[in-house]
Amino acid sequence: MAGSATPMMVQYQALKREAGDCLLFYRMGDFFELFFDDAKTAAAVLDIALTSRGEHDGQPIPMCGVPVHAAENYLARLIKAGCRVAIAEQVETPEEAKKRGGSKALVARDIVRFVTAGTLTEEALLEPRRANVLAAVCEVRGTCGVAMCDISTGRMDLEECAAGELPAVLARIGATEVVAPEEWAARPGEAIPRPHGDFASDEGEARLKAVHGVATLDGFGSFTRAMLAAAGGLIAYLDHAGRGKLPLLLPPVAQDGTARLAMDAATRASLEVVEAQGGGRAGSLLAAVDRCVTGAGARQLAEDLAAPLTDRAVILDRLALVHWFHADPLLRADLRDVLRHLPDIGRALGRVVAGRGSPRDLGQLRDGLSEARRIRDHLEAKPDRPAMLEELLPKLGGHGALTDLLSQALVPSPPTERGQGGFIAEGYDAALDELRQVSGNARRAIAVLEAKYRDETGIAALKIRHNGVLGYFIEVPAKHADRLMAPDSGFTHRQTMAGAVRFNSLHLHEEASRIAEAGGHALAAEDAHFEELVGQVCAAREGIAATAAALARIDVAAGLAERAAEGGWCRPEIVEQACLEIEGGRHPVVEAALSRTGERFVANDCTLSPDDRLWLIGGPNMGGKSTFLRQNALIVLLAQAGAYVPAARARIGLVDRLFSRVGASDNLARGRSTFMVEMVETAAILAQATERSFVILDEVGRGTSTYDGLALAWAVVEAIHERNKCRCLFATHYHELVRLAETCDALSLHHVRAREWKGELVLLHELAEGPADRSYGLAVARLAGVPKEVVARAKSVLDRLEKGRAQTGGLAAGLGDLPLFAAAAEAEVEQCDELRERLQGLDVDALTPREALDLLYELKREAFT
Ligand code: ADP
Repeated sequence: MAGSATPMMVQYQALKREAGDCLLFYRMGDFFELFFDDAKTAAAVLDIALTSRGEHDGQPIPMCGVPVHAAENYLARLIKAGCRVAIAEQVETPEEAKKRGGSKALVARDIVRFVTAGTLTEEALLEPRRANVLAAVCEVRGTCGVAMCDISTGRMDLEECAAGELPAVLARIGATEVVAPEEWAARPGEAIPRPHGDFASDEGEARLKAVHGVATLDGFGSFTRAMLAAAGGLIAYLDHAGRGKLPLLLPPVAQDGTARLAMDAATRASLEVVEAQGGGRAGSLLAAVDRCVTGAGARQLAEDLAAPLTDRAVILDRLALVHWFHADPLLRADLRDVLRHLPDIGRALGRVVAGRGSPRDLGQLRDGLSEARRIRDHLEAKPDRPAMLEELLPKLGGHGALTDLLSQALVPSPPTERGQGGFIAEGYDAALDELRQVSGNARRAIAVLEAKYRDETGIAALKIRHNGVLGYFIEVPAKHADRLMAPDSGFTHRQTMAGAVRFNSLHLHEEASRIAEAGGHALAAEDAHFEELVGQVCAAREGIAATAAALARIDVAAGLAERAAEGGWCRPEIVEQACLEIEGGRHPVVEAALSRTGERFVANDCTLSPDDRLWLIGGPNMGGKSTFLRQNALIVLLAQAGAYVPAARARIGLVDRLFSRVGASDNLARGRSTFMVEMVETAAILAQATERSFVILDEVGRGTSTYDGLALAWAVVEAIHERNKCRCLFATHYHELVRLAETCDALSLHHVRAREWKGELVLLHELAEGPADRSYGLAVARLAGVPKEVVARAKSVLDRLEKGRAQTGGLAAGLGDLPLFAAAAEAEVEQCDELRERLQGLDVDALTPREALDLLYELKREAFT
């Protein structure tokens, strides 16, 4: 690459333009090379040497490279670090290039694929227990369309939502990659911009029809324009990434977002549903619940927990299946043993359809599909099967012809490499067997030849060997070489090494040619069989995907039953009334953490009803308030996902929206001030919670000064009680809030118990009725190891403060006379209405710009003084 105009440089630059902001992997022989800034980025991420090669505009060109055979591993690391990669392959051999353009011709290269987080199918690049979702979002007349697919298994869902709901929907989906129109002002921050034209609904419809070879989409369901537009953007991106080769896409399913328990991103994060706050699966609800024995089951469970249901009938169906497995431990154990050894057929199918399948993938499909049929036969023989199982079982079969074909065609454990052959079983193709026999015979003939040459020459160390460059050759130690060098020896010299000399012979050449020829034909024959088998698998794709999904569902139910049996969990009763009755509830994650250190978790009850729907919970820090709040939210979430729950008994009124908020000082939000975040989130609850919602609020108001915080906490509790009327658990350390019980009749007071014993604080983690009798802040400080003198000093300060409080009535002095929230709000509305009246009487068109501006100032003054 010397100078700026070398043909290679020109070719590189053209490819790089096409690759855009993706790193360009430029194939040179056995390496993928990266140049310029790409090289710097990759070298930093991969921690490999940055070198240089040639010059460009007088500057050395930065370069780094990765060997082709190890490229997958490097790709995985780049993708994880958030990079996208364009793979430019040599699309002709050097010989072809020479033939085309003379001895100096450059080998033609082309981008064959873009590797991005959302478009992976390789086993090595995917996490087995995690779905890999690509999402496309766009807006059509104020409504957002969301298309998502996991191309490793082919499933594709379309839904639409209000623009304001999009962040929550994206949080639920948890996509690894999102694309959106480039000109869309409200494009989500993480989305990759794509051409606007890709997101047209008629285009989307046409693409979907083309993918599935149908004249109408009616058979798949009904899709809105926003959904179709998003689908268009999604397929266009896949088409771009695969350079025209589309991956496995199953028929789209229209999802009804309203049939799901709504949770926004903050709630998900705070409840640590599929990921703990520190990132990662460990410590999440998912990790505490997941007992699935297959990757596909674990992926399905993650999805179920991320999107619990609101349709009682479906929830009951799922629960009935869990119950069936719960009731029969032997059946469950047997089934799980079989499932554990099942290959991931959904992902094998994804690779095969994407054109990246291997003989091993076909072997996995053979084994997985045959096993699925056996599972069906086994379960079908059992009595009292629940309705959901009756729906699932037929999906496990129906592949008899395909599995028979694959069984006959393939060897027991086919290799991952297709190019070397050796995967078609003997007896499947007589011509192939014969070719193999020919080369086998020739190999034997070569062995015979070796013995014969040793005899004839008397050189015991003579060997016939093989390598990739020379093919077959005869090798003797250098000291014996002279004999074979003689012109009439029948041997021709080929190569002299340090200690050995290599020869050929006519006879050997003949046998070697026979092997090569038969081998070449055999490889070609195996390749043709491979294509044929791939074709058969592709034809059965929808059925295979349905089998994979049914197996995953069965694994989820059996795994939940296992978890329930292990932890003594119960089957929740699901009702329509707005109640929440939990007896002996536990927090699965905290309980598991405690049991590791041999501590016992104290179970607690919670009983909310329309007459007693807001619990105010006080008590010392570390007393278990947050844990109690969260365990009840998690129990609701688990129940609506169709799982058993960690409680002795649970009766749960369906929840439409779940909110969880934690006081600002508990989580270190970045960017905005923590208190601002807390208030934005609280505002969202007040705006969205309905009478069917369940809200947990933990120490709201803590992020600001005491007076502000108390005032806000007070007003928020009132608003939830008077306006939202949802079920709510509110933990607070503001003792003053207990006065709210006097005016809010559906609010009751509770506290976590603690006792001071011999000067030490004992936290009982037990919930009791009534207000907390005192705050144990100082005792907690002592427990935490704050020095004795400091605690003693704090005690004397506290005594003074409390004396002051006794005299003045304390922080909440005068609050008893405060009009209730509704009354206060009315007064504000009145003031607002005066403004409204003035505005109504205004003839805007009659105003000059100057008058309009003056008026605006005046109105503003009026409104805020
Ligand atoms: P708070 O919100 O009142 O400050 P937390 O809920 O954060 O208290 O609980 C503090 C710690 O107490 C937890 O980390 C856990 O170890 C323990 N804990 C909480 N609830 C229980 C319980 N029900 N049984 C046993 N230990 C508990």
